[in-house]
Amino acid sequence: MRVLVTGGAGFIGSHFVRQLLTGAYPDLAGARTVVLDKLTYAGNRANLAPVAHDPRLEFVHGDICDAPLVARLTRGADLVVHFAAESHVDRSIEDASAFVRTNVLGTQTLLHAAAAAGVDRFVHVSTDEVYGSIEEGSWPEDHPLRPNSPYSASKASSDLLALAFHRTHGLDVRVTRCSNNYGPYQYPEKVIPLFTTNLIDGIPVPLYGDGGNSRDWLHVDDHCRGIALVAVKGRAGEVYNIGGGTELTNRELTDRLLELTGRDAGWVRPAADRAAHDRRYSVDIGKIRAELGYEPLVPFEEGLAETVRWYRDNRAWWEPLKAVGADARR
Ligand code: NAD
Repeated sequence: MRVLVTGGAGFIGSHFVRQLLTGAYPDLAGARTVVLDKLTYAGNRANLAPVAHDPRLEFVHGDICDAPLVARLTRGADLVVHFAAESHVDRSIEDASAFVRTNVLGTQTLLHAAAAAGVDRFVHVSTDEVYGSIEEGSWPEDHPLRPNSPYSASKASSDLLALAFHRTHGLDVRVTRCSNNYGPYQYPEKVIPLFTTNLIDGIPVPLYGDGGNSRDWLHVDDHCRGIALVAVKGRAGEVYNIGGGTELTNRELTDRLLELTGRDAGWVRPAADRAAHDRRYSVDIGKIRAELGYEPLVPFEEGLAETVRWYRDNRAWWEPLKAVGADARR
């Protein structure tokens, strides 16, 4: 079996590749794995260091918008798992052009090549942010998409394109929409690694607005296990929400991080709220649970403590990334 993983040098894609090559997904065991990654600021070869010498891994430095390259790599691929994206909401507010290029045009380029090459299965990794914001209750998969940020709008476009390629061209596409991930190797502009590394170093953390925005936090390992399950046992043309972690406001999350790093509330500084900041996300995971037997396994308190420990123990991984400009972003 040959698997093409786009964005496999990023936070979630690299976790999937490390797990795949170390046998965590028995139904995909032994697969030859090709990683296609542009190595943007968020991509990092060091994320694949633990499996870099595995002879089943091939790394290709390239762009999903490069049609001839993508045509060559999809030829003979049995499964495509598509993680590559511009992923940071704040950057999309500053300038959405890279988001439209990679997330929309890049996904279309990849879908076109996969359909032409007769790839067996294509998993498109989408996000719960495509649904917008929900005051109460949780979104089922057939809820209308109402994205609010340029990031989520570009992801919604790619999500719908992926489903359209199933309907129009018969490509076996499965879409996953996951809640917020945390874990090791996450670029230190996102809230958990930014706050953790700032607090370790005694730098104040910027908390948006009233801190009341609420997210469902899922360990990256639970997300990737869900993706592997959808790849193996999911149905063509279907969307599967993944989540069911722990719902916390940003203020509650910050309090947990203060406690784990031994800092007090004096290290939190209020920051002007993000434009059109979604108040709450919540996915209904009834479908993946009933159909595929999915359950999140990492208890949040344990996963978060382990994650903070990882950033404490792996300064050499994040320090150079913060030095080149992540600074107070998230
Ligand atoms: P990330 O920013 O850490 O990684 C993205 C990777 O894609 C990087 O390695 C980057 O170099 C690569 N990339 C970007 N543009 C590319 C291009 N044009 N061609 C090839 N490679 C390119 O992102 P992440 O947090 O690992 O997210 C991965 C996927 O999961 C994204 O599609 C994201 O929308 C989705 N997702 C993320 C979360 C989350 O909480 N982080 C939650 C749900 C869904």
